[in-house]
Amino acid sequence: MFKINENYLKLPGSYLFSDIGKKVKEFTEANPDKKIIRLGIGDVTLPLVPAVIEALHKATDDMAVKETFKGYAPDLGYEFLRSAIGENDFKKRGVDIAVDEIFISDGAKSDSGNIGDIFDADNKIAVCDPVYPVYVDTNAMEGRAGNYLPEQGKWSNVIYMPCTKETNFAPELPKEEPDIIYLCFPNNPTGAAINKTELQKWVDYANKTGAVIIYDGAYEAYISEEDVPHSIYECDGAKTCAIEIRSFSKNAGFTGTRLGFTVIPKELKCGGVMLNSLWARRHGTKFNGAPYIIQAAGAAVYTEEGKRQTKEQIAYYMKNAKVIREGLTAAGYNVSGGVNAPYIWLETPKDMTSWQFFDYLLKEANVVGTPGSGFGPGGEGYFRLTAFGTYENTLEAIERIKKL
Ligand code: PLP
Repeated sequence: MFKINENYLKLPGSYLFSDIGKKVKEFTEANPDKKIIRLGIGDVTLPLVPAVIEALHKATDDMAVKETFKGYAPDLGYEFLRSAIGENDFKKRGVDIAVDEIFISDGAKSDSGNIGDIFDADNKIAVCDPVYPVYVDTNAMEGRAGNYLPEQGKWSNVIYMPCTKETNFAPELPKEEPDIIYLCFPNNPTGAAINKTELQKWVDYANKTGAVIIYDGAYEAYISEEDVPHSIYECDGAKTCAIEIRSFSKNAGFTGTRLGFTVIPKELKCGGVMLNSLWARRHGTKFNGAPYIIQAAGAAVYTEEGKRQTKEQIAYYMKNAKVIREGLTAAGYNVSGGVNAPYIWLETPKDMTSWQFFDYLLKEANVVGTPGSGFGPGGEGYFRLTAFGTYENTLEAIERIKKL
């Protein structure tokens, strides 16, 4: 008789967005005349930019002609894309990353979930609290998280690093030593960023203790402040302790198009074994490459037109972020984020949990956000609004909240 991976049975239901959906549906059915404004989900809303669309069309035409048709893509991804990444995302920032240290994938969710394949089950992970849930759930699936403790909303074998307003929503170095540290900056859900001096402390800590950092830079394109590093490799020594994961979802609107990449420097070793080789083996065995058409579209993001057009989109979202941040501050809320990230993290009023605030905002302002507790126990008492709506709706939502 076969056996299943029982770790899956330990996973609590992931109800956050379906619970939100249900509540919103009930409300709209009961109040069909009310216009709901959704600032909850972290998905982009603007269409792909013209440079990307043009590249998609051209690459599609390539597939129609014998001479330019492409079958399986190279394991690591097309060199034209990897060299554009190496040049623009790293070299221009003073970081040397070789093309064979860059692995193209179908997105940061897959990579951040799959990277655990190359690590023993007997590693202890540390995550921020609140956190993007994928890191914890995928480690739980691999038997690395211990047991779920429902009363605490935590896993028994995971080190939680609280991100509180006292530390500007940055984690502090953990007291117990982890083997694998997940960091995500700019952060989802708090919108917090980390400056280079602070990130350097994590790199030094990982090198000193022999830990590996998995650095999720999915929101890199939203960084606006000078002292915020765009890549962990801007820190000295990061190549011997860090893996960086990036996405085309939020910088270029590829959430439905799917493209991302992971960087594993060859200097990153465990007992002489290069993690780069292990990931290459894993990638070559379990993944058959992101589609040529999509990689060609990804390369268009790095053309002059592509850069200009995607920058305009990010500026549009960040204009929304400013409206939310400044509007809520004027309305007396304690607000953070929204400067280097499209997320605004606000403290719920003292007498309300994050779900109570959700209900209140839905009923009184007809605005939908995300309760902070959905991102872990440390998110209780907080609420996430996103800047991915339209400018007009964002203005209206904030006016409504201000009037409450
Ligand atoms: N990492 C973080 C922190 C995210 O918030 C998200 C999506 O919301 C992802 C990764 C997923 O990125 P992708 O669309 O490339 O899978």
